[in-house]
Amino acid sequence: TNWSQVFTSFDDLGLRKELLRGVYAMGFEKPSAIQQYGIKPIVEGRDTIAQAHSGTGKTATFSIATLEKVDITKKVPQALILAPTRELAGQSKAVLSNLARFMSGLSVHCAIGGTPIDDDIAAFHRGVHIVVGTPGRINDLIRREVLTPATIELIILDEADEMLSRGFSEQIYDIFKSLSSEVQACLISATMPSSILEMTSQFMRDPVQILVKREVLTLEGIRQFHIDVDAESWKIETLLDIYKIISVQQSVIFCNTRTRVEQLVEELKKQKFTVVCIHGEMEQRERDAIMREFRSGTHRVLVATDLIARGIDVQNCSLVINFDIPKNKETYIHRIGRSGRFGRKGIAINFITRDDAEMLKEIERHYETEIPPMPENISSLL
Ligand code: ADP
Ligand code: MG
Repeated sequence: TNWSQVFTSFDDLGLRKELLRGVYAMGFEKPSAIQQYGIKPIVEGRDTIAQAHSGTGKTATFSIATLEKVDITKKVPQALILAPTRELAGQSKAVLSNLARFMSGLSVHCAIGGTPIDDDIAAFHRGVHIVVGTPGRINDLIRREVLTPATIELIILDEADEMLSRGFSEQIYDIFKSLSSEVQACLISATMPSSILEMTSQFMRDPVQILVKREVLTLEGIRQFHIDVDAESWKIETLLDIYKIISVQQSVIFCNTRTRVEQLVEELKKQKFTVVCIHGEMEQRERDAIMREFRSGTHRVLVATDLIARGIDVQNCSLVINFDIPKNKETYIHRIGRSGRFGRKGIAINFITRDDAEMLKEIERHYETEIPPMPENISSLL
């Protein structure tokens, strides 16, 4: 880090008092490491790259900073926060609104695909200070001149490495092109591959970098294991065996594709094991309902694609099962980070076929961590 100021109490950050009240009303007593280092530079207008483990409070870092900066008397969009999925945008919107509950007159709007664009248009007509959204809908609103980019002073890319990777980067660059060249840019993620860092010089000026070294990125509270499965067809039985011996409040099972998710759900239904699922091909209303019910604890087991691999925060989720091992190393750390939120205990179990053995080794090497076979006494670890 080239930014040495550390704030070990929220009181010392010099936040406006309505915001400070909001912070304490969330039940936050003390800033996490990323909050101690990351809030101030963003408030002071520095371009910032903030990398910290999953579940360590990055959302509140950029949200508190953003809320501290906005001028409520000017009812124009001043900050734009982008997320890779609708679910994550919605979650961050909720955190912002919660933190801002005592800041009267402040308006945060969530603009995401799968919802009527007329709702966005109406919201912008009423006046919006902070916009949270997904790139597609935001671009759409800019093209329609509903969202006027000229007033945006701060842009935040949550899950920045994902946002700047293939598939998204073009849309992100389109958004950047429409913004003022003076815009303050902040990148947030648990993972920041060097290939992505190298691109940042194109749109960031002398950024403050708060980076966790790769080797310390293994998640402290999350125990990782693997189970060798001789064939694909063994995975279901192995899964059912695990749920016989482990009892956890909530868990997520990741598969690599939508079809795999649907097949697994079908199989489990036949075995009278109730689960729900989420993937990007589902209707948005259904996706919203599933997430709402999973967050409220109505469902205990969620089978998912990587749609929810990043950012989603469900505190009672303490077990992640990689039914299929992910195809890339970043995805691995994001997936298992759905458990063990904010220092809680978590367990990650990886199903490994013969074909997966090499990938498991690669993950172990990359994160300099051992992922041993699952022990017999697994249930005592939670
Ligand atoms: P990240 O984006 O770093 O993965 P989140 O921002 O989703 O993590 O935060 C993870 C959890 O930690 C959330 O449930 C959040 O409410 C909680 N949290 C964040 N900051 C604090 C804090 N200072 N004190 C206590 N809990 C916190
Ligand atoms: Mg996050």
